[in-house]
Amino acid sequence: MEKIYFVGAGPGDEELISLKGYRLLKRADIVIFAGSLVNPKLLDYCKEDCQIYDSSVLYLEEIIEIMRDGAKKDKIVVRLQTGDVSIYGSIREQAEELKKIGIDYESVAGISSFLGAAASLGIEYTVPEISQSLIITRLEGRTPVPKLEKLELLAEHKTSMAIFLSVQNIEKVVEKLLEGAYEENTPIAVVYKATWEDEKIVMGTLNDITQKVKNSEISKTALILVGDFLGDKYNYSKLYSKYFSHEYRDAIYNRNK
Ligand code: SAH
Repeated sequence: MEKIYFVGAGPGDEELISLKGYRLLKRADIVIFAGSLVNPKLLDYCKEDCQIYDSSVLYLEEIIEIMRDGAKKDKIVVRLQTGDVSIYGSIREQAEELKKIGIDYESVAGISSFLGAAASLGIEYTVPEISQSLIITRLEGRTPVPKLEKLELLAEHKTSMAIFLSVQNIEKVVEKLLEGAYEENTPIAVVYKATWEDEKIVMGTLNDITQKVKNSEISKTALILVGDFLGDKYNYSKLYSKYFSHEYRDAIYNRNK
């Protein structure tokens, strides 16, 4: 019996899938892809007789049934999801269901959209002495968020944040961020469809972002990135400083000794 492959499709650009994922897609007999978010151009990598299912119209039971059927017939089944499957990928429940019926699975890492968005902006989330942590989170919606992870509590850290699944409530996001430690002039970016051809980037501050997002009519498939890493202040890292020695390289005053 074959195993199931959970493959991260990357954020959008069809070249941002891993080589491993690409090779699996080429060999796949069955692909179940998240039609609401995965770039359909990725399906061009599949062979002509590959059976393709869009999971956005399926229940969990139906997805598992397709997987079971394929695995039993020794087919290569790829479950293709956006970004990386470990972030809001709903793979836990699929994995548990597969375990129950004795089917193995393997995950193939993908480039999450928060990484695609960072590349589009050309930024670093971890600017020395400005922020050394990145919080990945979401506003609670129909899916509740554990009490200790409320946005206003996480915002107390004033570090870099990538907020998923929340742009439709940008007003509320801003309100919660301000309840925490961010300020009216803290920079914030909204990246819609990062790395897709129709990507849109809206930059602002907590003071004006709500209006700007409304004007741009972005209401889904976007990330909210917030924090001083987007601002003008920065420091150089020690890593490449000539006054700093480490395991692989001496500081300049020791170099030629
Ligand atoms: N597993 C995915 C996230 C799936 S949850 C990942 O690793 O990226 C879906 C949410 O991800 C969307 O609501 C949006 O907030 C974000 N998202 C996914 N693709 C995106 C993209 N190309 N640009 C911006 N945000 C994206």
